[in-house]
Amino acid sequence: MANVAFIGLGNMGGPMATNLIDAGHSVTVFDLSQAALDQLQEAGASVAATAAEAAREVDYVISMLPAGKHVAGVYMGAEGLLAQLDSSTTILDCSTIDAATARQVGEAAAELGLGFMDSPVSGGVAAAAGGTLAFMCGGAAATFEKAKLILVDMGVNIFHAGPAGAGQVAKGCNNMLLAVHMIGTCEALEMGARNGLDPKVLSEIMLASSGRNWSLEVYNPYPGVMESAPASNDYKPGFMVDLMLKDLGLAMEIAEQSDVDNPMGRLARELYSQHQEAGNGRMDFSSILQKLQG
Ligand code: NAD
Repeated sequence: MANVAFIGLGNMGGPMATNLIDAGHSVTVFDLSQAALDQLQEAGASVAATAAEAAREVDYVISMLPAGKHVAGVYMGAEGLLAQLDSSTTILDCSTIDAATARQVGEAAAELGLGFMDSPVSGGVAAAAGGTLAFMCGGAAATFEKAKLILVDMGVNIFHAGPAGAGQVAKGCNNMLLAVHMIGTCEALEMGARNGLDPKVLSEIMLASSGRNWSLEVYNPYPGVMESAPASNDYKPGFMVDLMLKDLGLAMEIAEQSDVDNPMGRLARELYSQHQEAGNGRMDFSSILQKLQG
């Protein structure tokens, strides 16, 4: 069993850290929120007063923070963790952040001889609690081998996407495609419904045909078609429009920096942005159907 420092105990980090405790690891936590620390202490974690204190003499440092600036703040600079860790520590940043910051932190860690992986996840709060997350990792192959040993206690599918930053690029590609096929699925279902088709029957037809996709298969956006989907529960998230827009913003940055033309991704971001501005930021992202319905 390993000694682990876990930094960032929000909606995702809290249950992920709890799964590590339940798997028998010795976990020391740090967060800016006292309430989050209290909750993890109750679950069996040791609480540290700073990130540096949490990371003292551990095998792994794992972070789950809101954005690139928080990750850079925790790891970089004279006070940052990179300057204080020794080379036996493996660092896994599971936050969803811009690929440029992930590369920058990964390269700075490599210069100091530290193993760092950007390891963003697919799957929301339910997957974090259930230990069924997918991890997309960017970093050296040897670091990936060490990362797998602990990531298996928080997830089921663990991929090595490539070098530093590749995990964030994979996540950006996936979520841009998710936005595009969710909107396409909504358009098709609405067109069918307006022409007298039962959305449930149309869904069955498309699932058995070439329109089959994840939104249709496990997350049907039409109310009443799939009991377990947010659409059948007043579009309660699930995966919020606000978070989809964050991920689409990161995907657009990747596209711009690599000079890729992505008109479908850009249009998806525009539509989700309008949907957010209409006050739907905290709704599930499949509620984009309601925008198309006018
Ligand atoms: P959250 O806002 O619930 O939690 C973030 C936590 O980080 C908070 O507890 C905050 O106090 C803490 N924090 C911020 N700065 C800190 C610092 N300097 N030191 C220590 N703690 C600090 O966010 P979340 O929903 O848990 O998401 C975390 C990350 O996971 C984000 O990058 C998000 O995009 C990604 N993600 C979220 C979901 C989801 O469904 N919520 C799904 C996949 C990925």
